[in-house]
Order: sequence, then structure tokens, then C-alpha cells
Amino acid sequence: MRFSIIRLHGCLTDFRAESRVYKVMRPRWVQSTATLIIFLASTLNIQPVEAQRNAAATNSRSEAKQVHALKVTLLSTMLVGDTTGLGEWGFSALIEADGRRVLLDTGAHPDTVLQNARDLKINLSDVEEVILTHYHWDHVSGLMTLRKEMMKTNPAALSVVHVARGIFYSRPGQPGEANPMIALKKEYEATGGKFVEHDVAAEIFPGWWLTGPVPRKYPEHNWSSTGKVRTPAGLVEDTIPDDQSLVLNTPKGLVVITGCGHAGIINILTFSREQFPDQPVQAIVGGLHLFPATDEQLNWTADKMKDFKVANLLGAHCTGIEAVYRIRERLGLPRSSAVVGSVGSTFVLGEGIHPGQLAK
Ligand SMILES: [Zn+2]
Ligand SMILES: [Zn+2]
Repeated sequence: MRFSIIRLHGCLTDFRAESRVYKVMRPRWVQSTATLIIFLASTLNIQPVEAQRNAAATNSRSEAKQVHALKVTLLSTMLVGDTTGLGEWGFSALIEADGRRVLLDTGAHPDTVLQNARDLKINLSDVEEVILTHYHWDHVSGLMTLRKEMMKTNPAALSVVHVARGIFYSRPGQPGEANPMIALKKEYEATGGKFVEHDVAAEIFPGWWLTGPVPRKYPEHNWSSTGKVRTPAGLVEDTIPDDQSLVLNTPKGLVVITGCGHAGIINILTFSREQFPDQPVQAIVGGLHLFPATDEQLNWTADKMKDFKVANLLGAHCTGIEAVYRIRERLGLPRSSAVVGSVGSTFVLGEGIHPGQLAK
């Protein structure tokens, strides 16, 4: 395993601690503490609006808001597990929680998610918000097709996209720009759509926690080392710093949705636990980029997962088929709780995984 520890937004912990102080202070200290927060925010180069939003998010998390009904449906992944749907090297999932519906990633081919949603009789026209986990083409290529198609019915459909800092950084390639998000940003904004860029973690709705860029505590190396990224600090190896995951806080534990998991699933779980101490992980759904992992890496990952009490794994996209089986065995999970994700397969809180026929 390659050791390359990368610490992103190291200021986050200090700032969060400060926000907690704000919450327990007596009223006469509130004004001076607020001034201190604004001062800290300015020294950390955080905009006041962003600072307010982060403080609100932190307070919300400490109150531990939860979602009670949750269904995750895979709309793009490699395997087609039933007689409906198109398989591809890509990822997309529809998240439905307490009546709110959000699309996470949009597939690799421009029309895969559109077609699969139709095949599965899922209407996406009332889905107004999207999360893009990172800039890779196999997660973002369906956005324009879906936005243009759905806005015919509802102008607000897919009109807000949550992304993490770094998603618009240039990736010099051969030839030209290798980051599809740069051209896509212009095209998408021309339709009236808006990107919300997250520098740090945020509770985007009650019980929905978006990690933003994930601190890389452990040296998981879940990306190909061939690319370069132009960051404010210069041209460096592309570790996909914009990789973010969605964490849903439920009464049964955390449900973690990843795109490719380039930040490393253990780093993602570790960061999640900082927000929700003592919460077990009820499910991981999505791509974990473990398909090229060695036996040693897979064993390490599975052993670490035990610490988080992972109860279900719907390993889709780049998780790797062998990786799902190895993790299942190492964690001692039953066949029904660790499954290769397929188009149309679901995770339902309280019910577990419904795999496609082929993936059973
Ligand atoms: Zn991917
Ligand atoms: Zn990726």
C-alpha cells in the first residue's frame, strides 16, 4: 500500500470546536464569541455567509436530526441484475428520505440514467437537487440530458447541484482539459441551474450530511496515479480532492452513499464518526474503488470496517465483484447483506438490500 497522507482543510476541526463553544456560552458572552467566530472565519479565509452556514450545520448535527424512512435505488452501475435497464461503467443513485428525493451522480453515458429511470418507472421530474460526488466523467455525463429533459415538465427539476471544492480545478490532459466539469459548468448554468460548492461538511437537509472534501487520515490510495490537478498550491498528483460522500443519519445507524470512494472508505467512515460518535454504520451503498486492490488492502479495509459495525454493503460500480465477496466473508455478513449492486437494486431502511435477480 502506498503511503501518501493528505490533510485537507485542516482548519475544519478548530472551527467546529469554536462553534460548539458558541452554543454553550452564556448570553453575555455570545456577542464576543460571535465576534471571535467572525474573526476566525476571516483569518481562515471563510466568507461570513459560509461561516454562518457551517455554524448552523454544526448545531444541527449536535441535535442529531435523523431521517426515518429511506430508500436508495441504483440507476447506473455495471451490472444489470434483472430484465430491465442498461449497465455501464458509471454510477447514479436516487435517494428518497422522508419525502425528499435527491439524485446522487448521473451516470457515464448521457442517456443511461434517463433510460433506466423510464424502464424502472421512476419519475425524476420532481427531483430538484443533485449531488455530484466528484468530477469524473462516469458520474457527471448524464447531468445535461436529465436537466434538459426534466425541465420540460418542471423548470426547477435538477436545478441545484451540490459539489465539493476542487471539482472545477483544471486537470491538464492529452490533449487539452481533462476535467469535463469545466465545460459542463457553463452549459448547465446557461439553463438557469446553480452549483453549490462546499468547502467543508454541511447538513444540506435535516439528517442529510454531505462530507465535502474528506480528510485523508489513512493512506488509502483509491485512485489511479496518472492524472495531475492544478490546485491553488500548484500542479500536483490528482488525488481527487473533490471526492465527497453523503451520510444519512437514521435511527438504525448511518447510511453512507459513495460515488467512487476515492477518499478511501475508511477515511470516509472515520470522518463520519467524528460527526456522529457511537453511531454504527447501517449500510454502505455505492462505489468503493477497490477493484484493483490487493488481498492485503482488501483485508485491511474489511478489518477496519468491523470497527464501524457495518451491517450492509451494496457494493456497486468500482467496488469490484471480488472485493464485495472478500469483504462479506471477512466481516462475517450473510449473503443477503453484502451484495453486488445492480441497476434497479435498492437498499430500504428496515428491510435491507433488494438485489436484482442475477445479483442475489
Ligand atoms: Zn466512477
Ligand atoms: Zn471516479
